[in-house]
Amino acid sequence: MGRKFISQKKQTKDELFDSLVKNAIDFLDSSLDDLEKRPKNSIVDFYTSIELFLKARLMAEHWTLIISKPETANIDSFRVGDFHSVFLEDAIRRLKGVLNECLEQSTIDNFKALGEHRNQIVHFAHSDYADFSATKAGVVVEQWASWHHLHALLTEKWKDIFGPYNKEFGRIHKQIMRQKEFIQARYNELKSKIDVEEKAGKKVIDCQHCEMHAAIVSKEHKWGDDYSCMVCGVSDTAVASTNEELECPKCHKSFEFFDKNLTACPHCEMPISTDLLIDLCEKKYIEGDDWWEEGQPHIAGCHNCQHERPSVFYIDGLWSCVACFDRGWQAIACPNCDEFVTGDMDTINYFACYKCEDEVRKRIREDGF
Ligand SMILES: [Zn+2]
Ligand SMILES: [Zn+2]
Ligand SMILES: [Zn+2]
Ligand SMILES: [Zn+2]
Repeated sequence: MGRKFISQKKQTKDELFDSLVKNAIDFLDSSLDDLEKRPKNSIVDFYTSIELFLKARLMAEHWTLIISKPETANIDSFRVGDFHSVFLEDAIRRLKGVLNECLEQSTIDNFKALGEHRNQIVHFAHSDYADFSATKAGVVVEQWASWHHLHALLTEKWKDIFGPYNKEFGRIHKQIMRQKEFIQARYNELKSKIDVEEKAGKKVIDCQHCEMHAAIVSKEHKWGDDYSCMVCGVSDTAVASTNEELECPKCHKSFEFFDKNLTACPHCEMPISTDLLIDLCEKKYIEGDDWWEEGQPHIAGCHNCQHERPSVFYIDGLWSCVACFDRGWQAIACPNCDEFVTGDMDTINYFACYKCEDEVRKRIREDGF
């Protein structure tokens, strides 16, 4: 935001990272507190929080990265909090250029749109900006969508960095999901428009984020449907489901297991952990796809959740991860490190897989590219 904030005493880098994250969490909290009476403040604070989290991610790599002109960086003035820090677009550019961390386009679009809305509120305070988005229900929907993107970054993509704050994220997640009645109101308002889409022949499915029957399918694939939700604004892919079953080791009855909300056997309540699912699948799914040959590995490491144990099995015609329940990626042996993994084929072939990318990036940097 280019604004200076001054703190009194010098902090270590770890302390600075910690206070940046805590600051970001504070802004999320005040955003939720303001929802009822000051929906505009709520948007502004929510956006500030996103920027702070992106800065924290950059800072985890190197402290100079959050300064608007790294060449003028000075560790002493940084430690007392006296610096101009980066804007959203710079942060996204640096994540990509320096860390090779590409955010999904839908995430970037969402954050930018929220930023524009924030600017309208901040800079045009006296304009009659009184459309739907300035009402509580509108703000809830906007936050809902942005939170989906932010939450995925903090708890999946960057979980190694933000893991220590997971409890806080869980608390906020619960609070945001509680805004159900406003989502329902938004749905009621839009229902006639959704009906029109459906009658015109569009496929409409339940949104996996707000759970409303408002997700308009834009493209169908073997692995699932791409959709945009009219209620919460999230664009995502609804992964194709499967009715495959496993046998419970305790009661020996079969249950449908490919469900991220499953925590116990539906018949005997025996807890079903990720490790147990992998154990059970190891016994049942002993082959890979058509490319697979006897003796080759048939359980892939998942690039999406990066679960420690290989967790991707060939189930019902698709490579399917039983740790994060993503499906439909290809699985191959990485030509660089030889690990059997899922991921984008081009990236693995021409660059690296998720397991060896850090090492490859380091090598490229040392070679001076
Ligand atoms: Zn939705
Ligand atoms: Zn059972
Ligand atoms: Zn996974
Ligand atoms: Zn590799």
